[in-house]
Amino acid sequence: MRLVVVGASGRMGRMLIQAVAGTEGCTLAGAVEREGAEAVGQDAGSLAGLAPLGVAVTDDPLRVFAEADGVLDFTAPAATVAYAELAAQARIVHVVGTTGLRPEDLAKLAAAARHARIVRSGNMSLGVNLLAGLVRKVAATLGEDFDIEILEMHHRHKVDAPSGTALLLGEAAAEGRAVALAERKVAVRDGHTGARAPGSIGFATLRGGSVVGDHSVIFAGPGERIELGHRAEDRGIFARGAVRAALWAQGQPPGLYGMNDVLGL
Ligand code: NAP
Repeated sequence: MRLVVVGASGRMGRMLIQAVAGTEGCTLAGAVEREGAEAVGQDAGSLAGLAPLGVAVTDDPLRVFAEADGVLDFTAPAATVAYAELAAQARIVHVVGTTGLRPEDLAKLAAAARHARIVRSGNMSLGVNLLAGLVRKVAATLGEDFDIEILEMHHRHKVDAPSGTALLLGEAAAEGRAVALAERKVAVRDGHTGARAPGSIGFATLRGGSVVGDHSVIFAGPGERIELGHRAEDRGIFARGAVRAALWAQGQPPGLYGMNDVLGL
């Protein structure tokens, strides 16, 4: 499968180049950065700390999408929406790891998915998607006398909060309880908040250092507490998950898919 990495010089972009180069059956068909970025013209392999791959970073996505089967995109919401349109025009697979997408961005992805195969997940790792399944089950089993709180920590450069993964876990908890997350979500507590609203799903965010991604889901009941957690140690887990998603999506009809579909969970 011929894959393009957009946001090639980003933290995830470089991991994605490594993952594509290290996966049998995949070749790097292009590496894209925004117009005028310093990396344009550099070899994508060298940029990712590998031996040169003979693929120069370009700022012309259209040209490389036309020669590819899929695009791996861990960038920023505005970029992802623009790439979705181009990927749909080129009828190629679009794997979206970008987080912080607003409802209007998601609507544009859904529109593009009428023509393209899009796989989107706030977390592409096997472990977190398994954790989401467990959270769904525990939330369904325990009922509302157990309060659900989701705690996450990420590196100091992260720009959106709560993390895409924390929201994914919140969605899983809400599904388990057959409620809408939007109606139960409490993402900020500050000052005199009053007592905790029964049935709410709380989020707490920590930022600092180089933490790749820690998540805990706490079910706090009368006299006991259950905690389920995941610690990402290496960004490679997300990049390998994205390549796996692209390979899976190649054989699917147009549509918007999640990692549950890819992993058969
Ligand atoms: P990063 O190091 O800041 O990389 C982002 C890349 O996207 C940079 O190369 C950046 O280029 C490029 N970019 C941003 N805006 C752009 C635009 N408008 N047009 C073209 N390129 C643009 O960030 P990161 O840590 O790699 O994370 C990227 C995204 O992936 C974030 O949303 C993060 O939350 C998400 N993520 C998801 C998962 C998952 O499993 N789903 C895992 C890890 C991270 P410039 O430097 O020129 O701005």
